Amino acid sequence: MTAVDTNRINLFDLDEIQMRAFFESIGEKPFRASQMLKWIYHQGITDFDQMTNLSIELRRRLGQVAIIEPPRVLSEQLSIDGTTKWLIGFGGGNAVETVFIPETNRGTLCISSQVGCALNCTFCATGAQGFNRNLSTAEIIGQVWLAAQALGHERNGKRRITNVVLMGMGEPLLNFDAVVAALSLLRNDLGFGFAAKRVTLSTAGLVPGIERLRETIDVALAVSLHAPEDALRETLVPLNRKYPIAELMKSCADYVSDKHKRTVTFEYTLIDGVNDHPDHARQLVRLLRRLPSKLNLIPFNPFPGTRYRCSPEHRIREFQEIVMAGGLIATVRKTRGNDIDAACGQLAGKVLDRTRRSQMFREQMQRI
Ligand code: SAH
Repeated sequence: MTAVDTNRINLFDLDEIQMRAFFESIGEKPFRASQMLKWIYHQGITDFDQMTNLSIELRRRLGQVAIIEPPRVLSEQLSIDGTTKWLIGFGGGNAVETVFIPETNRGTLCISSQVGCALNCTFCATGAQGFNRNLSTAEIIGQVWLAAQALGHERNGKRRITNVVLMGMGEPLLNFDAVVAALSLLRNDLGFGFAAKRVTLSTAGLVPGIERLRETIDVALAVSLHAPEDALRETLVPLNRKYPIAELMKSCADYVSDKHKRTVTFEYTLIDGVNDHPDHARQLVRLLRRLPSKLNLIPFNPFPGTRYRCSPEHRIREFQEIVMAGGLIATVRKTRGNDIDAACGQLAGKVLDRTRRSQMFREQMQRI
């Protein structure tokens, strides 16, 4: 829970089940939860006094025990291509970045799940920032709520949020409970009401987390693969030492084999001379061809201090041609918001790295 006010509960922290429990705990009927969720997520109202279907007495009582407080927008930047990036603050010097990417037929909001990241993937700007802490449910769903407000809560307009991806800062499966509550508010019709395929959780490959997710909630899965074999993947995604590719593939196969019609997308950042050789493309075909999946090729986005470079365009095209000839469905992600550092892997926010990353990582792994 967000520690905004130690005595009052922030209702942004509660999914439907928790909201019902909250209303019961103050002696109210659980259906009040539906009314409250609709005010917050359908109407964008956070002021109890405006909730006209609640009695004045209940509104007064709510004011004593609860608050509805989203995080704060510290700044907003608009790219020439329409991409918008917000720096969203949580106090204590911590902030994350949230990005809205408008396309012809959809608008994707990319949100963060942690302040920084403990995984230290070598090609990612967030990894280089270190880790501070997990975000609360309020801080995760609050990003969507704030973006919807800033975009005018347009349900039909051009700048409408149609998809949400947890591809911002952090490893969502290392913040499981808060992330799942936020996912449930994204999916729930009383919340944002997104279909399962429109909510994507991206993971660096935390195998036990993928298994738990499968048992818990129905969303689309994206897996940051970046290499077709273990030795190379370890140099890019250190987590691979703990969960090697074979185990990861098994958990992905399980994820899509369920009764639900689930999908998995593999993300593959193309880095010049590192993982972009035609042989890598052929290995990738052998690895993925039996798994119903999509491949998303991401041109590497440079950031200050990195030793990597983006693959040249002709190599990206050749890579795509090889994997497609091998039967994979592969798209190349268009780089968006480059002029405002809003592209994949460029999100840095503001992280006060309060612990040594490796120590934090060990602690987090023990909790899984
Ligand atoms: N921890 C999760 C969520 C972050 S997603 C995960 O790893 O999936 C961020 C996405 O952007 C991932 O696919 C990541 O691999 C990719 N990415 C990170 N740094 C990048 C960079 N510099 N250029 C392009 N893509 C990058």
